[in-house]
Amino acid sequence: MSIEAEFVTSAASAADLPRDGLPEIALVGRSNVGKSSLINALVRQRIARTSATPGKTRLVNIYRVARGGGAPVYLVDLPGYGWARGDTREFDELTRAYFTRARDNGSACGHARPHIAALLLVDARHPGLPLDRAAWAWIERTVEGRAVVATKIDKLARGRRAGAMREFEAVFRHPVLPASAVAGEGLKDLWILIDRLATHTRGSR
Ligand code: GDP
Repeated sequence: MSIEAEFVTSAASAADLPRDGLPEIALVGRSNVGKSSLINALVRQRIARTSATPGKTRLVNIYRVARGGGAPVYLVDLPGYGWARGDTREFDELTRAYFTRARDNGSACGHARPHIAALLLVDARHPGLPLDRAAWAWIERTVEGRAVVATKIDKLARGRRAGAMREFEAVFRHPVLPASAVAGEGLKDLWILIDRLATHTRGSR
């Protein structure tokens, strides 16, 4: 299936975010969890910058993506959390502002109301990290469309994967989709999930 993807902007504040009402699928997770790699794997090009040194940028990177000639969506790469030692907050101000703008403003100020779903990315090797639990609890309270993706599944031996997924699902009380940007596993299912979340957010307009 053909995929068109383009970088739109790096937003430093909520004022710089898109206002055209396209569905937004926002990827959040700890720094280094593999957000940029997953975006690149999904769109099959190096559109997002990956790095081995986490936590440098505090920007919201936004990509417009259309698959198979379908309706476009935004893939949104939010700042990673937990990168500073002693940082015990699940999300920074920018991420909170990003998600809560869906409730707080929108049509009231003449712009199309943003439609946002959250994909929480967690490292397949580390079920139940306190910051990931806190992030999910916050997302559950705040964002209607949401799902959990376990990244870097290639790093887990095959025989350990089912058990790890059960552990995750017990922690989050929600299905968890295993994926690997390196091995390409789970990407088809992830697109199905993204399409479903996008359709749902469109439908709630
Ligand atoms: P981000 O900070 O969440 O955007 O993380 P990056 O995408 O920059 O990835 C952080 C590191 O993890 C990089 O060294 C990547 O090569 C590595 N990485 C990302 N995804 C995968 C994956 O699916 N499998 C493996 N083995 N490594 C990955």
